Amino acid sequence: MSKPARLPWKHEPSFREALKIPRGFRLADLDPASTPGFQGGKADGSRALAAGEAELDDLQERLHAQATAGAPEAVLLILQAMDTAGKGGIVRHVAGLVDPQGLQITAFKAPTDEERSHDFLWRIRRALPRPGRIGIFDRSHYEDVLVVRVNDLAPRAVWSKRYAAINAFEREVVGTRITPVKVMLHLSREEQQKRLLERLERPDKQWKYNPGDVDARTRWEAYMEAYQAVFDRTSTREAPWHVVPADRKWYARLAVQRLLIEHLREVAPRWPAPSFDPEVERQRVLES
Ligand code: AMP
Ligand code: MG
Repeated sequence: MSKPARLPWKHEPSFREALKIPRGFRLADLDPASTPGFQGGKADGSRALAAGEAELDDLQERLHAQATAGAPEAVLLILQAMDTAGKGGIVRHVAGLVDPQGLQITAFKAPTDEERSHDFLWRIRRALPRPGRIGIFDRSHYEDVLVVRVNDLAPRAVWSKRYAAINAFEREVVGTRITPVKVMLHLSREEQQKRLLERLERPDKQWKYNPGDVDARTRWEAYMEAYQAVFDRTSTREAPWHVVPADRKWYARLAVQRLLIEHLREVAPRWPAPSFDPEVERQRVLES
């Protein structure tokens, strides 16, 4: 086994504190190329990401183990972002390193006819992580106050009531011992243009290009206003938002990994006590 990489910090920073949005937070004031809570550069960041893998893996396994003994806890990473911000890369680099059986990943697209026939939270409830799982929402119920608001997919009278509905829903989620980790990946408009152009140039990336992404780009300001409203109205004590600057992919991946680790530490999952007497069993195995 190779030696675990050393962390590039003496005193571990709290990404949770560095990224939690403060009172009166203005998205427009946060530089998407900044690296809150982290002093190092790309190489340090990659090293730190590698160094965190073992702990995340261990925490996830404990979470799973205690659930087999009836513990209800789960964690839910909610990812929201403009296109090309790197949600997919986060799922691969951050979550892809823990046991896939411990993950429950759901990507929310435009609702199907069936989904549309129910309340907007119906499909969300069905995708909540079971005990012991780390759930990941690639987009979420927040689309119902983002794309829906920006593109007038529902009347204002409908979407404006959803902020309160979301807060009530998330309180309920927390009550069932699911810890939400809400993350917005904050990309600059300029960086998105670069990434879209790159998708068009590279045959291995063209498949990710969606002509519709340009339409969302042309409504950038409206999206940023809609995100601001999300932060103003749904960053609650029990389910706060974290805004992760995402122009530097290495930083966004590190930040989300550290956020998961910090939240899981607080959940503090424990190896369950055996339902048998290990000494008795030892004798039985020896004699068998
Ligand atoms: P992607 O995540 O890039 O595969 O795109 C998924 C698409 O589904 C995005 O354009 C979202 O805006 C859209 N979408 C997700 N949720 C909703 C929703 N509740 N209403 C309308 N469109 C949605
Ligand atoms: Mg897309």
